[in-house]
Amino acid sequence: MMHFIQSRRHFMVMTGAGLAAAPWVAGCATAEGAALPAKAIGRPWPDWGELPDSPPPAPKEGSVGVAVVALGGYAIGKVMPALAASDRCHLAAVVSGNPDKAAKVAAAYGLPEDAIYSYDNFDQIAGDDRIEAVYIVLPTGLHAEWTEKAFAAGKHVMCEKPMALSSEECERMIAASEAAGKKLMIGYRCHFEPFNLRAMELMRDGAIGPIRMIDTAHQYMMGPTNVSENWRVVRALAGGGPLEDYGLYSLQAALYLTGEMPVSLKAATKKPANDPRFEQIFSTLTAELTFPSGAVTQLATSYNAPDSKNMIHVEGETGTLHMSPATSYDGQKMTLTRNGVSEDLVPGDPNVQFARMCDHFGQAVREGTTILTPGEMGLRDVRLMEAIYRSAAEGREIRL
Ligand code: NDP
Repeated sequence: MMHFIQSRRHFMVMTGAGLAAAPWVAGCATAEGAALPAKAIGRPWPDWGELPDSPPPAPKEGSVGVAVVALGGYAIGKVMPALAASDRCHLAAVVSGNPDKAAKVAAAYGLPEDAIYSYDNFDQIAGDDRIEAVYIVLPTGLHAEWTEKAFAAGKHVMCEKPMALSSEECERMIAASEAAGKKLMIGYRCHFEPFNLRAMELMRDGAIGPIRMIDTAHQYMMGPTNVSENWRVVRALAGGGPLEDYGLYSLQAALYLTGEMPVSLKAATKKPANDPRFEQIFSTLTAELTFPSGAVTQLATSYNAPDSKNMIHVEGETGTLHMSPATSYDGQKMTLTRNGVSEDLVPGDPNVQFARMCDHFGQAVREGTTILTPGEMGLRDVRLMEAIYRSAAEGREIRL
């Protein structure tokens, strides 16, 4: 019986079963006169992301060939180096709307010219056996469309977080994966990062007793920008803004640290007037989530915060766990305090998270193993974000 309860709870936490879709976010996916088109276009060289001095060594035998779709900051800065470092996946092709950038990236990674695709000839990857999987690193509002195209081309898909902008899109992506009989994984890197993995383990083991409160914030000050130059402030591409992009790390942490789904939540949003950054998106969102055990999470996320935070603070009945930075690419810090005694924990190198995530995906593709961060988890989180926005829009607590 205990086993049944645990597996049912696990299922509910993994899938968010029972959460209703909120109409508000579906409206979010509609362009409100966005100056930046919601269709895939090429963009200039991203602000960050260095290319390797020399191409990576030949892929290991059995490694899965991956086409990276969109050569932006995260793709060049983290995804491609991760594929190069992975034992089970390798970069096999690039897809970009900017031919010059694509040629430069392909050359740096030792790809032949015929491994460069554009959004216009993307469908031709169907006949390219070097490509077994596609890694979608497009702006979020384009994830669903290109994931569906990748499945139609008969490829497996790794899709960046957040999975999409509405639960309806997520459901379509999962259906396309099932119809194609191919894997769908969401790029939730913290599930492969040593500090967050240790935090999950500590909470599961009751290291600080039953959790009473989680205080978590992911926020920073976004520089001057507007809808014609930055997709992150365009509703059709970014949804409500900081929650989908950054606050999602807080939301995920609340779930994987408590091991529970919230039973109720209430939220509030802010949108300063006459600020070109926040013409279409919210600047700030706060939410309070209550879990069946009685644990409460206070979540804050913002693009308009003078004080940058990447923080998770857990208070249990017998101690605390403090992480700051908690979910960054590297530099994580974690302090466990029990009975008044604090110890700094260093469970590993956060940098391994990217390649480990690719290894996990490659193994699932090759051996059919279960994916830890499947489309169902992405759907669960999008449903929760819809409930959060519905609570803010209606100014009331939502029971889930
Ligand atoms: P960037 O703006 O740096 O890059 C996006 C790329 O998408 C562009 O360079 C362009 O590539 C392509 N693109 C196609 N159509 C458009 C369009 N209409 N507007 C803008 N770009 C377009 O974004 P990021 O790399 O920061 O983010 C991409 C995805 O990765 C998002 O879903 C984001 O949430 C996720 N991400 C995840 C992170 C993580 O830690 N897991 C960290 C950062 C981002 P091209 O020119 O090649 O066509």
